[in-house]
Amino acid sequence: MNQTQPKLGNGSYIPPNKRNNSEGSEVSPQKKTAVEITSGVGRIDIGGRKNVEPVVDMKKIKENKQKSPFVKLQPRVLTEPKGLPNENEEKPTVSQEIRRQIPENSRNSRNIRDNYSNSASSMKNTKTGEFSLKDFSEISHPYIDSHCHVDMIYNRLKCSFDDGLSKWMSNYQQSFNQYFIGCIPNFIEPHLFVNTKLTKDDYDMSWIIKELESNPLYLGATYGCHPHQVKSWADQEVFWDTLEILLPHKRSKCIAVGECGIDLNKCDSPLDQQRYAFRRQIQLAFKYDKALVIHCRSGPNRDAESECLQILEEELNRPGQHRYLRIHRHCYTENWENAKKWIETCPNIVFGYTPAVFNFTGRQLDAIRNIPMDRIILETDAPYFVPSMCKDVLPRINLPGTAATVALQIAKYKNIPVDEVMRHALLNTRRIYSL
Ligand SMILES: [Zn+2]
Repeated sequence: MNQTQPKLGNGSYIPPNKRNNSEGSEVSPQKKTAVEITSGVGRIDIGGRKNVEPVVDMKKIKENKQKSPFVKLQPRVLTEPKGLPNENEEKPTVSQEIRRQIPENSRNSRNIRDNYSNSASSMKNTKTGEFSLKDFSEISHPYIDSHCHVDMIYNRLKCSFDDGLSKWMSNYQQSFNQYFIGCIPNFIEPHLFVNTKLTKDDYDMSWIIKELESNPLYLGATYGCHPHQVKSWADQEVFWDTLEILLPHKRSKCIAVGECGIDLNKCDSPLDQQRYAFRRQIQLAFKYDKALVIHCRSGPNRDAESECLQILEEELNRPGQHRYLRIHRHCYTENWENAKKWIETCPNIVFGYTPAVFNFTGRQLDAIRNIPMDRIILETDAPYFVPSMCKDVLPRINLPGTAATVALQIAKYKNIPVDEVMRHALLNTRRIYSL
C-alpha cells in the first residue's frame, strides 16, 4: 500500500478547544465577574446614616472588569445522533433472558442458503490445520464473540438493513455453533453514528438501534474511533459530544468505548492525533464506567505497543482515575514479553484472540501458552479472519458464530480441554464487559 506513513515527531497535538483561538467561537469574555456581583452592596443605610460610601470602589471594578482573566465557555449545543430514540421508550434487553432462548434461536433453520456469496468480497482464509468443521460443531459450551463489525458485514454482504444477525444465523446456520450465546458489535467509524454536515444526508443511526434491538444475541455495543479514522474525527468536537450522549444512553446498548489505540502499520492518521484520540477515549471510558477496547498494531520498526503502554501508564495512574479500568486488548498477535508489560500496566486486562491464531508462529504461540486462562477471551473480528474449517458454511467473509474455533487452537497449545478454554473465556468476557 502506498499510504503516507505518519511521522514520529515529538510535537504534541493541540486539540481544537485548547488552541489559541482568534476566531473566538468557543470562548467569550466573561460577562459577569465576581466583583460585579458584590457591587450590589454599594449604597446601604446603616444606623440611620445615609449615603454610606460604597464598600467597593466602582472605578476599580470597571478597570478590573476590563482586565478580567476569566473566560466562560459558551454552553455547547449537543447534536443528538439522528435516529437515536428516546431512551425511556423501551426497556433494554436483559441478557439473563437472552441466554435461555439461545439454543432455539440458533437452531431455527437447517437450510443454508448462500444468497450473498456472488456479491461478497473474497476474504483470505485463515488455515486451521488439523481442525475440521466437525471439531467446531462438537464444541458444547456457551460462548460469546467479544468483537465483530456488523456494519462491515452488511457492507461485504451488500444486504439490506433488515438482513442482520437473525438472518445470518439462519442462512449460515452451521457457522453458528448451537452454543453461540451472543456477540458484541464494535462501531468504530464515527460517520455511522455522528450527526454532522460532513456526513451524507442519508446518515441515520436508527439502523444501528434497529439492528441492536432486532436480536437479543446482540449483548451490547461499543462506540469509538479506530486509529484509521482519527485523521478525520479527532478534531471534530461533534464526535466527542456524540460519545457523551451515546455512552450513557440506554438505547445505544453501549458497554465499551473503542476500538481505539495506536496503529503504526499502514495508517495515515498522524501519531500525535492518534495519541490525543486514544487518551480522550480512555478518559471517556473512565467517566462512564465502560470497558475499553484497544487496537494496537506495530509497523516495521515502529513500536505501537510502547506508545499505547506509555499513554495507559499515564492515564491509569492519574490522580482520581481508576487503575482497574476494564480493558480488552483486541486481536492480540504479540509475544509473551509484551503481554507481561500489558498486564503490569493494566491489572484488569484480557487478551482477545481471533482466528488469526491458526497462522501463529513461535513467539505468538508462546504467548498463548503463557497468558493465564483468566485473561483470554474469544473474538472473530468478523468480517475478517475466515477460519478455513468453516469456509464452506460461511459466505466468504467471517461471521460472529466462528469465535469458538479459536478455543480449539488455544486448548491445543495450552494442552487443556477445549471446554476449559470455553468456560474461562465466557467468564472473562462477562467480567470485562459486566454482562
Ligand atoms: Zn475490530
